Amino acid sequence: MVRAIVGANWGDEGKGKITDMLAKESDIIIRFQGGSNAGHTIINEYGKFALHLLPSGVFYSHTTSIIGNGVALNIPYLMGEIQSLTDRGVPKPRILVSDRAQILMPYHVLFDTYEEARLAGKSFGSTKSGIAPFYSDKYAKIGFQVSELFDEETLKEKVERVCVLKNVMLEHLYHQPKIDPAELLNTLHEYRDMIAPYVCDVSAYLAEAIREGKNILLEGQLGSLKDPDHGIYPMVTSSSTLAAFGAIGAGIPPYEIKNITAVVKAYSSAVGAGAFVSEIFGDEADELRRRGGDGGEFGATTGRPRRMGWFDAVATRYGCRIQGATEAVLTVLDVLGYLDELPVCVGYEIDGAVTKDFPTTVKLQKAKPVYVKLPGWKCEIRGIRKYEELPENCRNYIEFIEKEIGTPIKMVSNGPGRDEIIYR
Ligand code: GDP
Repeated sequence: MVRAIVGANWGDEGKGKITDMLAKESDIIIRFQGGSNAGHTIINEYGKFALHLLPSGVFYSHTTSIIGNGVALNIPYLMGEIQSLTDRGVPKPRILVSDRAQILMPYHVLFDTYEEARLAGKSFGSTKSGIAPFYSDKYAKIGFQVSELFDEETLKEKVERVCVLKNVMLEHLYHQPKIDPAELLNTLHEYRDMIAPYVCDVSAYLAEAIREGKNILLEGQLGSLKDPDHGIYPMVTSSSTLAAFGAIGAGIPPYEIKNITAVVKAYSSAVGAGAFVSEIFGDEADELRRRGGDGGEFGATTGRPRRMGWFDAVATRYGCRIQGATEAVLTVLDVLGYLDELPVCVGYEIDGAVTKDFPTTVKLQKAKPVYVKLPGWKCEIRGIRKYEELPENCRNYIEFIEKEIGTPIKMVSNGPGRDEIIYR
């Protein structure tokens, strides 16, 4: 059975915790898109970890963790991440890397940094992990597949060809040092030796696993609204964040994805630029940011303070629909116990008309939130394990959200820990 765990919002919904939790009953966990540009925070018996490239199933000894072909593979970063786990007492995970995954090159990081600097105030808020240049090259067909590392002739020819192109930009657009093809080839030889023990024909491996009835998790990065097609373009990421892409980025048939678990955060947070209709500011935002997540709402990769807002039912319903969510998990609900009342954005007012449909970016920029206020529950809900034991106002908040987003909320997360979960 294949299940996708994906974000219904802007990312940072707590997918890492849910994946880590569900990985207990799974055999294989796969990252199918993105790269090391966003982080998943996981707390378990080994401590607190921020994973960027590895799937959130690496903490169990019974699981196989896979980097699918859809991922932007930063090889030294992956090696460092594996090392950082074993250094802290986590048993060495079983890891496979698709021979069709493409390699994030050192120059992708440079180009990302130079382009952000060139755009200055008009930048997209990139994490400068090289993701946009990586996917640009992939689709421009000048990317490097892992398999190509093992064919010296192809590799050498391609390195030379690509350097010509890159060096024009480096010299004339960015006024930066050029790439030396010989040096780059050496780096790629190092990459080849590092990655060799992990390389696998992942789609063939997964076809066999599916035939054997294995439990497989696809772990998404970021969320619906950061999808390049269906999100808040251009303030999006460069690979699809949707469950549908899980089939492509892992190499399995789309109809094998039986469950799509949309992770929904009980309030809103976002990083980077872009319209954010239910955003809050000032003291109100500072307080939620300070109390939010586990130890505050700051980016797991960049440490940037996240933008904060009230729950946006318009964006989340759309986020669940575009994911094709079969169920939702409502996370970080415990954080909201301090509020007297909880505004929920149930509509967008655009040019005088109220809509419940999430618009395209041009219209989104004009949208004003329409709020309904629900009473708070004013107490700590951590430690509760039964739905009926939640305070009535808290259940009302959950059920109101469930109705608005049109997706059954099957689990409620009331703390960052692995077992802090309420099943409904
Ligand atoms: P991801 O990228 O979707 O995995 O999300 P992040 O890991 O970036 O952000 C989620 C943050 O919230 C992490 O710090 C988690 O430890 C924390 N978290 C997850 N679920 C809960 C929850 O139910 N309650 C609280 N307080 N924190 C949570």
